[in-house]
Amino acid sequence: MRNKGYHIIRRPGGPTGDKKTAEQIIREAREGAKSNYRTQSLRIHGLICAKCGREFDINDSHLLTVHHRDGNSANNPPDGSNWENLCVYCHDDEHSRSTLGDYFSKENKSKPPR
Ligand SMILES: [Zn+2]
Ligand SMILES: [Zn+2]
Repeated sequence: MRNKGYHIIRRPGGPTGDKKTAEQIIREAREGAKSNYRTQSLRIHGLICAKCGREFDINDSHLLTVHHRDGNSANNPPDGSNWENLCVYCHDDEHSRSTLGDYFSKENKSKPPR
């Protein structure tokens, strides 16, 4: 009986890496159940600013932030109804003209107070 010294191992999930993606999703869900609303909102509403309509892609999606329509960052319904995707400029503008201004200044300490 000869052993040729190599084997072709077939993975049950197939060659497309579906299994890896599922693991990533589960891991994201576990890690971000509370704080990952941003990712969820971007997924639900898309990589587009709800105010100026500017579109983003995955490379500059960090410029897109999630605004809470009722101003309560603890109110995160999974259907995204309290979220609005705003670019950093529109988000700043949105808060600077409302009483929620100091809420945003906590998120963005690099900006000098007016
Ligand atoms: Zn905008
Ligand atoms: Zn906001």
